[in-house]
Amino acid sequence: MSDPRELYQQVIIEHNKKPRNFGKLEPCTHHAHGLNPLCGDDIEITLVIENGIVQDLKFQGHGCAISQASSSLMTTNVKGKPVEEAEQMVEEFRAMIRGSLDPTKDPNILGRLSLFQGVRDLPSRVKCAVLPWATLHSAIKGEDVTSTE
Ligand code: ZN
Repeated sequence: MSDPRELYQQVIIEHNKKPRNFGKLEPCTHHAHGLNPLCGDDIEITLVIENGIVQDLKFQGHGCAISQASSSLMTTNVKGKPVEEAEQMVEEFRAMIRGSLDPTKDPNILGRLSLFQGVRDLPSRVKCAVLPWATLHSAIKGEDVTSTE
């Protein structure tokens, strides 16, 4: 296995270069706008939720490599999942970033997203990584705008 830090870097670079599920769903059933004024990250998430399942979702916007890569990874992990599972991932992601969940020890459904635990060591980047998850949470709850401030 390669160094997790190196893997984390590679995943960020790769997803930033080729973001998955980039764009906008029209029509959509849920949407939210996420802002991180500290860094200038600005994303919009659109979802189609039917029968309690996230059938499809896309994101668009601009921002730093971490927010873009985190958005891309969020969409690939949430697509096709039940809404409850998506909400559980939001909680787990936040807990992991706060340091209260260790994805290598505690049971979790984050899987590959655990790479993002690296941002814990970069406090200024934490909000960038959490932004798409906070925005997803707002969209599911029917709130239009999320700001990490
Ligand atoms: Zn950022």
